[in-house]
Formats: sequence, structure tokens, C-alpha cells
Amino acid sequence: MKAAVIEEHGEPLAVKDVDYPDPAPDQVIVETEACGVCRSDWHAWQGDWNWIGAGVPEGQILGHEPAGIVSAVGDDVETLEEGDRVAVPFHLGDGTCTHCREGRANNCETVIPLGLSEYAPGAFAEAFPVREADFNCVKLPDEVDFTEMAGLGCRFMTAYHALADRANLRPGDWVAVHGCGGVGLSAIHIAQALGAHPIAIDVLDSKLERAEELGAVETINSTEVDSAPAAVQELTGDGADVSIDALGIAETCQNSVNSLGTRGSHVQVGLTTGEEEGQIDLPVDVMTMQEIDFHGSFGMPLVRYEELFNLIAQGTLEPSKIIGETLSLEEAPETLASMDDYETVGIPVITEF
Ligand SMILES: [Zn+2]
Ligand SMILES: [Zn+2]
Repeated sequence: MKAAVIEEHGEPLAVKDVDYPDPAPDQVIVETEACGVCRSDWHAWQGDWNWIGAGVPEGQILGHEPAGIVSAVGDDVETLEEGDRVAVPFHLGDGTCTHCREGRANNCETVIPLGLSEYAPGAFAEAFPVREADFNCVKLPDEVDFTEMAGLGCRFMTAYHALADRANLRPGDWVAVHGCGGVGLSAIHIAQALGAHPIAIDVLDSKLERAEELGAVETINSTEVDSAPAAVQELTGDGADVSIDALGIAETCQNSVNSLGTRGSHVQVGLTTGEEEGQIDLPVDVMTMQEIDFHGSFGMPLVRYEELFNLIAQGTLEPSKIIGETLSLEEAPETLASMDDYETVGIPVITEF
């Protein structure tokens, strides 16, 4: 089968023939119908994350935002059968640790990130295996199609958990979203749908225009103002109630914290780059005196899908709005490389394998 592989960090992905996977007893094989191309793929491809022991090796098949159809089932799998339509959240849990038993695969003690670990070849391929499949596969409701589900396995659900759970977003809140890539645009749409007032901040007008279409009440091009946090403070009167770093560079993280008002909540969603290596200076005294919360947020507990699917069924949330271009597997190397310059708008999804 065809797959897109990192042959050398930073060099174009190679689309080549690899062996079709066989399921281990706990696994299913999923034939990929759609898979998003994400900033995390770009990080992995750049050779980032060695500083947290999570560097992705050469030879890796990328792809962690898939939806597809179960094509083979391991001997120990009980709840899935051939033909099931499934999505696979990127954080593959073991299903047995304390966190997994609460449905929190995103906090699993032995989590394996799909498509970002040698133990979990990804979905930039015609098919891919899923460990502990009974636990990790999410059956798709009929009303959610494969392409829109591509964002629900990573960026859309990440933004939902960040706002609804970690920041405890309330209607009427001002929400500053720093960085309007896939996760940032998802956050804009979700914040608006949940009755909050999102402010979009980015360096590119093309992304800000998309943010406006998705419900941003204000937009700030940070290259056109002296200080993005000051611009947010001015728009909101007292600072944002919730602010999210949806990119993961020092500037967006610091801008996010500095956009908040008293008792505001910052949510860190983006992982950092080789510039920061996970270390960012923060105004700790101000955060202490203003009782500002700093939340990390990673993926979404599996138990939260039911609510997310209900909001989609009601029409409150429309993940299809965040989908950008659709492309073929052959085009994946070029799309990934275009992320060097932040050129993609919305979530690009591979739909031809
Ligand atoms: Zn992703
Ligand atoms: Zn676990």
C-alpha cells in the first residue's frame, strides 16, 4: 500500500510502497478515508520534541487525524467489526491505567501518539493499525462524515476540551485566540457557538478573514499594532476572561497570558518549537497577584465525545467549517512543507489515498 514517510527530517516526505499492516490481537486495521495534516506533523517532520523525549524517528509514517473503515480485526477485539466507521483520537491509550479507566486516554501513563511514534504508524497511508482498539476507536455517528471527522480526532476536539473543560468557558466571556491555524480557528468557532466573544489574533489577514467568517467579533493583526495584548485589553475593557495559545511560540504564549484580566485563564494548547525547547519566560508576579490560571491542555478525554457529537447533531457545532483544502496523499509532502510559512488556512485533509 501507499504511505507518506519521513525519510529525513526536514526533507520532503516520501510517498512509497510499504507492507499492508496485519492486526495484533488487540488491534484493528482501519482503511483511511480522511486524515488531517496538522502542525504536529510539521513539528515531527522538523525533528522537534527531543527535549521532551518525544522526537519522531526517521522512517515514521505520519498522520494522526484519521477517520476510516475497519478492515481487519484482531482476535481479542470484542466491540468492533469489519465495516465499522470509526475515528481514532491521536492519543492511543493502554486502556488500563488510572487515567484510561476514567476515559482519559489523553492523560494515559503509557500513551502512544498515533503517527508520531515508531510503535504507531500513522494514517498518511491507505491503512493503519490501532492499538487497544476496543478502547481507542470512536464509532462515528451517521451524521458526521469522514472528512469533517478528520479534525475531530485532533484539533477540533483539542480546542473543545481546552475551552469547555480546562478554561471552563462561560457564555459572555471574552476569549482571545492567539494563532489562527486549525486549532485556533476551531477555538473561534467553538467559543462563538458556546455564547462567548472570540477575538482572533494572527499575523496573516487571510487567517483573520477566515476567523471573522467563523464568528470572531474582533480581529487583530499583531504585525499592525504595537502590542497585541494591549489591543486585547483595550477591546475588552478589563482584559480577556480566557486566552489560548494555539500556536506554541514564546511570543504567542506570552501575549496570551498578558491579554488576560484579573482571574483570567490561559490555556496552552500549542507545543513549542526548537526555539523554545519547552521553556518560556512568564510574568509570574503579575500572574500571582492577578490570580491568573495557566492550564495545559492535551487532546480530549474520550468520554467527552458524546457531548461533542450531540452538539454537532444539534447543529450548534459545525466542524466542517474548519476544513480547508482537500488533497491526495501525493500532495501531502507539499502541503506539509507549506506550513513553514503558515500558508495553509483551516484544516487541510487528505481524502485520496
Ligand atoms: Zn493534529
Ligand atoms: Zn492509560
